[in-house]
Amino acid sequence: MDAARKVLAELDPELEWIHETYRDLHRHPELSLEETRTSALVVRKLEEFGYRVHRVGGTGVVGVLDNGPGRTVLARAEMDALPVREATGLDYASENDGVMHACGHDVHVAALLGAAKLLADHREQWAGTYLALFQPAEETAQGSAAMLADGLADKIPAPDVAFAQHVMAQPAGTLQTIAGPVLSAGDSIRITVHGQGAHGSMPQLSVDPVVLAAAIVLRLQSVVSREVQPGEFAVLTIGSVQVGTKSNIIADKATLLLNLRSYDNAVRETLIAAVERIVRGECAAAGSPVEPEFEYYDQFPLTANDEAVTARVSAAFEAYFGTVGNASRQSASEDFSRIPDAFGVPYSYWLLGGMDPQAYAEGKAAANHSPHFAPLIEPTLARGVEAMVIAALGELASDPRAGGA
Ligand code: ZN
Ligand code: ZN
Repeated sequence: MDAARKVLAELDPELEWIHETYRDLHRHPELSLEETRTSALVVRKLEEFGYRVHRVGGTGVVGVLDNGPGRTVLARAEMDALPVREATGLDYASENDGVMHACGHDVHVAALLGAAKLLADHREQWAGTYLALFQPAEETAQGSAAMLADGLADKIPAPDVAFAQHVMAQPAGTLQTIAGPVLSAGDSIRITVHGQGAHGSMPQLSVDPVVLAAAIVLRLQSVVSREVQPGEFAVLTIGSVQVGTKSNIIADKATLLLNLRSYDNAVRETLIAAVERIVRGECAAAGSPVEPEFEYYDQFPLTANDEAVTARVSAAFEAYFGTVGNASRQSASEDFSRIPDAFGVPYSYWLLGGMDPQAYAEGKAAANHSPHFAPLIEPTLARGVEAMVIAALGELASDPRAGGA
């Protein structure tokens, strides 16, 4: 904790460029996989701070700071914005029409850059390796997978532990942690079932996909109620059924779009297996002439915080700030965990409040993805930097009893 206090005593003079960077990022949001300007800005800053920089997975960037033998910490921020037309009226509002940092990823980037600089400037307070990772395309669940597919694991030292944070519609400056699942796994499935088309007056010549889809829709309602253990969280939503064009035509196929959410990989597997079994079973019962097709997309892995790492993070936050909140599980999803999972290392993901406390208390604070989403610059950014530094130094600070400090 001494190391974090010493490093963070130097935060104030850095806040000016951190705020400037944040406003710049907010003015110039870029959609998923198109984060070229943001990526270039990050590379420039990391090089200026003395990091060895790798570009990985298109616009992805990792800065590596070697500081002698010790543990390796990875900290991650996402860079992408959303196809939302900003309506905040801020003087640093988006200049890219129809694109907005409506999920606070600009907060994450600016805060991680701030932490990266403080750690680079105060290497005497710690030992080991710090990895500042900036990923593309979190919103579409593609970015972390793209970095891994591009050989991330061969390009950087393997981390021992990983961290990420997300700004949320909570009072600005508050931090919340939770051990175990914090964000749900999310899966979307496009299912195509085949019938046999015919004239509406001659149903005996058809295999009717309307009847088939209807049977599937009803039968799928039994998955959560009859196959998932009571008390376990699971959502199975059929968001779309598309079939047919005209009253007197029997169509030849139907398309269903499903969304699944779960907090447990075993539950997730139960849901997926049940969906496939029921769809195949109903197709067989209907006499469908062709096997159904399942296309999985927008797949978000489970985010489940490691107990021991999260206990260390919570204790460190509490020691520094005097208090830390308990996060509730969010039904939103994230693709961060793919990176620590690929290395087989534990991680912790915490929530950072960003909203005007008064507006929050009155229930008027716009949440993530709203065109009115507007985190307060302070204390949000300072708290984001502090949280990243404290979590990292909890793993990297040399033990003063060992003569390190
Ligand atoms: Zn988002
Ligand atoms: Zn987000």
